[in-house]
Amino acid sequence: MSEISLDAPKLFDLAGNVALVTGAGSGIGQRIAIGLAQCGADVGLLDRRTDDGLAKTADLIEKAGRRSIQIAADVTSGAALDEAVARTEAELGPLTLALNAAGIANAHPAEEMEETQFQTMMDVNLKGVFLSCQAEARAMLRNGRGSIVNIASMSGVIVNRGLNQCHYNASKAGVIHMSKSMAMEWVGRGIRVNTISPGYTATPMNTRPEMVHQSRLFEEQTPMQRMAGVDEMVGPAVFLLSDAASFVTGVDLLVDGGFCCW
Ligand code: NAP
Repeated sequence: MSEISLDAPKLFDLAGNVALVTGAGSGIGQRIAIGLAQCGADVGLLDRRTDDGLAKTADLIEKAGRRSIQIAADVTSGAALDEAVARTEAELGPLTLALNAAGIANAHPAEEMEETQFQTMMDVNLKGVFLSCQAEARAMLRNGRGSIVNIASMSGVIVNRGLNQCHYNASKAGVIHMSKSMAMEWVGRGIRVNTISPGYTATPMNTRPEMVHQSRLFEEQTPMQRMAGVDEMVGPAVFLLSDAASFVTGVDLLVDGGFCCW
């Protein structure tokens, strides 16, 4: 047997990496951005929110001893994403990691849905992830390596009982298959692309007062009998982005408390 040179904890160390996180002003993206910094990465923080969400993320990253920049931008604009990547590289260094979490959710019966509602969902959730990956991969191809994780949803795998959201479900199924396709386009050029598909997660998307009844149903329907906390998305993201997942590409990692088993 050859000598063991493996340093397992080091596999999860993100020191020396620069990440771009979209949707970093709230919920899952915010918590993952902080987690990446705690594992050693400097982070470009992108969101369209105009409240203090990004500033809060940046503050916690500074407390973790890492650097970040705040970028107010909309993921439906390719030019804005090119600019975001350029700024991140100019101020933090060559981009090697990306986590795309910006997204929206709403519900409406399919037979009554306005074309604009369907189109907006596709523009943000599917085209937004495409444009993000495109801008990020252009830099990573130049830099010779990179790892991208897109936040999809278990709604891209199953149809949520009682939720009329065909446009959301289709956008997330699109993110999963588009990510696999990109993984194969870039597999020989040093870039890995994977998705995380969260189950019901306690974020502002799901914890609004008008969602109390719905949230209780979400908990009952989940085999683990609860929603995920945002912290529970951090480990899967660090794993997929890090060298611990160096042979993992084109995978959709369900983080759903067992939901898709039933
Ligand atoms: P969240 O708390 O609302 O965070 C999403 C962030 O993305 C918000 O700050 C939002 O800003 C921003 N955003 C939306 N559209 C954008 C755009 N066009 N350009 C730039 N930023 C934009 O929601 P979350 O629950 O953390 O969701 C994050 C991701 O996880 C989404 O892709 C969502 O579909 C997915 N997901 C969530 C759950 C769940 O149960 N929470 C389950 C499965 C998957 P605004 O507030 O202005 O919209």
